[in-house]
Amino acid sequence: MDPLKALADAERKPYWLDSPARPGPTPRLTANTTADLVVVGGGFSGLWTALMAKERDPSLDVVLLEGRRIGWAATGRNGGFCMATLTHGLANGLERWPEEIDRLERMGVENLDEIERTLDRYGVDCSFDRTGELHVATEPWQVESLNEHLDLISELGLDYVPLDRDQVRAEVGSPTYLAGLWERSGCAMLDPARLAWGLRAACLRLGVRVHERTPVRSMRDDGGTISLRTPYGVVTARRVALGTGVFPPLLRRLRHFVVPVYDYALMTEPLTADQLASVGWHNRQGVGDSGNRFHYYRLSDDNRILWGGYDAVYYNGGLVKAEYEQRDETFVKLAGHFYDTFPQLADVRFTHRWGGVIDTCSRFSAFYGQAHGGRLVYAAGYTGMGVGATRFGANVMLDLLSGEPTERTGLRMVREKPIPFPPEPVRSGVIQFTRWSIAQADQHEGRRNLWLRALDRMGLGFDS
Ligand SMILES: Cc1cc2nc3c(=O)[nH]c(=O)nc-3n(C[C@H](O)[C@H](O)[C@H](O)COP(=O)(O)OP(=O)(O)OC[C@H]3O[C@@H](n4cnc5c(N)ncnc54)[C@H](O)[C@@H]3O)c2cc1C
Repeated sequence: MDPLKALADAERKPYWLDSPARPGPTPRLTANTTADLVVVGGGFSGLWTALMAKERDPSLDVVLLEGRRIGWAATGRNGGFCMATLTHGLANGLERWPEEIDRLERMGVENLDEIERTLDRYGVDCSFDRTGELHVATEPWQVESLNEHLDLISELGLDYVPLDRDQVRAEVGSPTYLAGLWERSGCAMLDPARLAWGLRAACLRLGVRVHERTPVRSMRDDGGTISLRTPYGVVTARRVALGTGVFPPLLRRLRHFVVPVYDYALMTEPLTADQLASVGWHNRQGVGDSGNRFHYYRLSDDNRILWGGYDAVYYNGGLVKAEYEQRDETFVKLAGHFYDTFPQLADVRFTHRWGGVIDTCSRFSAFYGQAHGGRLVYAAGYTGMGVGATRFGANVMLDLLSGEPTERTGLRMVREKPIPFPPEPVRSGVIQFTRWSIAQADQHEGRRNLWLRALDRMGLGFDS
């Protein structure tokens, strides 16, 4: 179908948030108050932090402040791939922290197991389904890189199954696939908005005071405590945890480490039984292709296909703006790629189109830290892979606040910071040239130009 026609009736809003299951907002903060711990941000990062703070110490008085609505940002508009990796994939972790990759992989799987157990404990229904992820090669140069780390993967005891052309097409029927690698245990598919609302309900059940539509405007260190000013009240707290993603940071130093990158997605109408049968997809894995600019796609529980990725857009100036959440040029491109991948679904139309902002950092995986004499902690920089990893980051923040060393806080990955981005306007120039170079590499059999090779040597990059 012509992409423009297929998109004609698509709503301009995130599919997951457009649900009758969305709860009404909790009350705004309207008076001054005190707390043991204030968590700022009602995305996965803040929700996991508040929930696990209460689980660690039920007597702690915890307040969560969210500027808009729980899960409205990246948390409620992502692909719903809940991955074990804490390092934005094995290859990135291996490149940066080879001596601790076995521990990082183990802790990632434990984190995913714990997410599953938490959902059971609180009865959170978010269609969590441990299908794994199917990595597919669609160009000959990608086949080799797909199987690059197979020896190490088996040494680490990870459950990956290499698939040849016929085997991968038997899993998911696309004429574009040349080979695949099914990462079986390291990824679950879920509905991210229902996860966020479920975590909110669990927080409320444990006594966290959740205030939505309560943006923190500024922060002041009062010595033993920190005061957070919101439009209608001040919270004075002994401890503060920031889970504010890529939004203008309350702690100025974070500006240097994260940049806003917009990622876009489409949702189709539900497939008919015949349409689904034409693709197969009996194991319902999440799928990711293997270019530097990649698509990610998956089935929803009512057999729609979420189709996203490819264009990761940095808007010069680095602002976060509502108008950037819609980009017709990208939607048309994505729809075209969908039909190239699944020509048998030429009649399928799209019902939703949206974008969201990612907190990209130069090492692609989150970083952690403390400020104000250890009274404030933060975690940011999940670079498009935070659905699962934010729970690990929340645990790191709570470990740091406790002051007790743990296996997590001993990791070099946790102790080190990413290399900062240069200030604007140099930042825009560097990022746009890097994006152009990445697109060139995809067009030239993955060959990286001098610029990308220089960045690789410095351990720097741009990703989503
Ligand atoms: C289109 C898209 C697809 C993605 N797909 C995947 C995927 O499939 N798998 C995956 O692992 N990751 C994916 N991601 C990334 C993932 O969604 C994020 O890593 C994760 O949601 C980050 O959660 P967070 O809580 O850190 O940030 P956010 O969800 O951005 O939440 C931050 C919250 O802090 C609040 N806030 C900020 N400042 C203040 C303040 N001063 N006062 C009060 N509140 C404040 C904001 O309002 C916001 O609600 C995707 C992201 C996008 C955009």
